[in-house]
Amino acid sequence: MPYIFPPPAQAAVPVAGSDTLFPIRRIFCVARNYAAHAREMGHDPEREPPFFFCKPADAVLPVAFGETGRFPYPGVTKNLHYEFELVIALASGGRNLSPAAADACVWGYACGFDMTRRDLQATAKNKGQPWDASKAFDYAAPVSHIVPRGKAPLLASGEIALKVNDTQKQHGDLSDMLWPIPEMLVHLSQLWELKAGDLVFTGTPEGVGAAARGDRMEGRIAGVGSLMLDVI
Ligand code: MN
Repeated sequence: MPYIFPPPAQAAVPVAGSDTLFPIRRIFCVARNYAAHAREMGHDPEREPPFFFCKPADAVLPVAFGETGRFPYPGVTKNLHYEFELVIALASGGRNLSPAAADACVWGYACGFDMTRRDLQATAKNKGQPWDASKAFDYAAPVSHIVPRGKAPLLASGEIALKVNDTQKQHGDLSDMLWPIPEMLVHLSQLWELKAGDLVFTGTPEGVGAAARGDRMEGRIAGVGSLMLDVI
């Protein structure tokens, strides 16, 4: 049966160093996955299991390594925040995964920003409303190109850091995650059947803050690369 209009283009992110694309199915994000960031947001990191929210697949804004992406400042907000994160890309999935099976689903990595309209999120938290308007807006998921993992063991440590206008703002280590990647995917796979094409934003270290038009953000993750973005 014909579509009444052409179906939207498949959201995709280029694979670094190749002429291939990684097609995006869904974008999951884990909240408060670094103790110091959970504390700066006013939460006790020891007592809360991981929880998740989503962004639409077409919220991705791919940026090549060595290039500077252009992130359009979204409407409505007066307090746009950056959250720099390791992103994992799944090329297989399943439900109720074991840690070993979860590990095997991870095909590659990217650097990403979980951009957040913090003022809208604060209002949503206060009123018990959903987070979509604060987290799932257009272009809310700038990501680098995807770096294939190959046969290497899963990244479990390495520096993650963000500079804004050449000033260090965020800093941590992947080993600081409260829920390391396999354990976090175990939880996620109990809530959704994971599928090839799913991206997972793995949480942000401490030091989140406001971004303004004209800012240049440069995030780096050891073993992955860097992501540069101008807020326009
Ligand atoms: Mn985040």
